[in-house]
Amino acid sequence: NKIEDDYVMGGALGKGKFGSVFLCRSKVTGVEFACKTLPKGEETVHKEVEIMQHLSGHPGVVTLHSVYEDAESFHLVMELCSGGRLIDEMTKEGRYSEHKSANIFKDLMLVIQYCHDMGVVHRDIKPENILLTASGKIKLADFGLAMRIANGQSLSGLAGSPAYVAPEVLTGDYGQKADIWSAGVLLHALLVGVLPFQGDSLDALFEAIKSMQLDFHSEKWQSVSKLARDLLERILTRDVAARITAEEVLKRTLKTVSVRLKP
Ligand code: ADP
Ligand code: MG
Ligand code: MG
Repeated sequence: NKIEDDYVMGGALGKGKFGSVFLCRSKVTGVEFACKTLPKGEETVHKEVEIMQHLSGHPGVVTLHSVYEDAESFHLVMELCSGGRLIDEMTKEGRYSEHKSANIFKDLMLVIQYCHDMGVVHRDIKPENILLTASGKIKLADFGLAMRIANGQSLSGLAGSPAYVAPEVLTGDYGQKADIWSAGVLLHALLVGVLPFQGDSLDALFEAIKSMQLDFHSEKWQSVSKLARDLLERILTRDVAARITAEEVLKRTLKTVSVRLKP
């Protein structure tokens, strides 16, 4: 079957580096989906599909429904996240309350923990790739850069978005903990509304990622609890062995959330 036989194609939902994503509706059931169309010649499509199928057992991962192939493209029919991208909500919101940040971050850590347990490094954790359902639940998307690694294996080669990239990715071998760093960059942005590492050029940004110390004494941190600051420090540490895992983060954030829930 061709995708046009089974789905009515609709308007664009988003555009990334490689593909375009469109709304589509099943002709049989009337259910709406998101269709990511990737041009052929992209060897990585098979890997993206394989990893999405491998990770289908978690509600925090965007579900891959079916795959079509025609002369020019692959079409990945995925669960529709009608709440849009987290980045757009963040831009509107400016800065999240600590309670809301903790809830989003906890859900992100649950899905990252699942990926890591399944032997997958996402490598592109950022709010452009975190989508929201109609009810506001997060879904991790875009496994285009994801890699499966065996226990103890490591990756090399620069991948991801500059502002979110972990220092060890810039300098050598890395693994799952690179995702934790990226999630920490996101947590920083949620809590205080700005990215932790910035620079006028790519070199300046990478220099900041490799060496800049966070200043928790600055004005913007005054309203953030010590618990949250300590957590962020344990995540944005350049010593990979000292950086906490998703599992360890969860033990803490769950505590943070419950502490915060008390009036
Ligand atoms: P790329 O690999 O090109 O970055 P993504 O998979 O990140 O592609 O998709 C690009 C954009 O398309 C996303 O940022 C989002 O706006 C939109 N998008 C992707 N998947 C979905 C989905 N399942 N539901 C709704 N929108 C989506
Ligand atoms: Mg993307
Ligand atoms: Mg991608």
